[in-house]
Amino acid sequence: MRIAAGTVYIVGAGPGDPELITVKAMRRIQSADVVLYDRLANAELLGYARQDAELVYCGKAPHAHAMPQEQINETLIAYALEGKNVVRLKGGDPFVFGRGGEEAMALAAKGIAYEIVPGITSAIGAAAAAGIPVTHRDYASSFACVTGSRCHGDKSPVRWDLLAHSVDTLAIYMGVSQLGHIREELLKHGKSAATPAALIERGTTAQQRTIIGTLDNIHKLAVTMKLSNPALIIIGEVVRVREHLLAAEQQAVQLIG
Ligand code: SAH
Repeated sequence: MRIAAGTVYIVGAGPGDPELITVKAMRRIQSADVVLYDRLANAELLGYARQDAELVYCGKAPHAHAMPQEQINETLIAYALEGKNVVRLKGGDPFVFGRGGEEAMALAAKGIAYEIVPGITSAIGAAAAAGIPVTHRDYASSFACVTGSRCHGDKSPVRWDLLAHSVDTLAIYMGVSQLGHIREELLKHGKSAATPAALIERGTTAQQRTIIGTLDNIHKLAVTMKLSNPALIIIGEVVRVREHLLAAEQQAVQLIG
C-alpha cells in the first residue's frame, strides 16, 4: 500500500522575538510531525511543537554549513514521502534571502504538496524595533533589501552603482563582513558620506544593540564596537527618525515629570 505523501510547510519564524511569529506559523508548528529549523529561527518556537515531533537542526552558521542545501531538500522530500507533515522553519521570511524558493522548487519538482507561510523579515522587524521606519513621507519613498554577501564576481552581483542613486533606504542583509567594501562602493558611486546609517545587531531580541553613524564612519564603528551576526545595515535618511523619536520621548518625559 502506498502512503499518501505529507505536506511541507515552509514557514517564516519572524525576525527574532518569538512573539513576532504569525498565528498560521504557530499552528503549523503545533501540528507538525517533523520540524527542520535554522539557526536564526528562535529556538523558543520549538516549544510549540508536539512532544513526539521530531526536531532536526539544519542551521547554517556563517562559513559553516551544518547541512548542505541539497541534503535539506532531500530530507524534506524523504519525510513528506513517508507521509509526514513537515515544517521547515526559517528566520524572518522564507522567501527573503532564505532559500525558501529553492526548497519550494525542489518540492514542486517531486510533486510534493507545500505551503509558504510568510514571516516578518528582519530588515523591517529590526529597523522598526530600532525606531527606524523603512519609508517615511519626509525621508524615503523607496527601500531595497540587498544582500551584502554577493560582492565579488558573482553571477548577479549587487549593483551598488545603481543602488547609490535609485533607492532611498538600503537594508543590507549579511553585510557585516563586507561593510568596508559596501561603504567604498557607495561612496565611489556618489552616495553622500554624511548619509545616516544604522547597524542593528540581534534586532527585536532582548540582546538588540543599535549603533548609529554615517556612511562615512559606519565601518569603523562596526569594528570598534565589535559588531557580530546577525546584524542588519540600514543606510538612508530614515535613520534620522530614530533620533527624532528619542528626542521627543525625552521631552515628553520631562514634561510629564
Ligand atoms: N530570511 C531572513 C534572512 C536570512 S539571511 C529574513 O527574512 O530576515 C541572514 C541575515 O539576516 C543575517 O546575516 C542578518 O543580516 C539578517 N538578520 C536575521 N535576523 C536578524 C536579526 N534578528 N537582527 C538583525 N539582522 C538579522
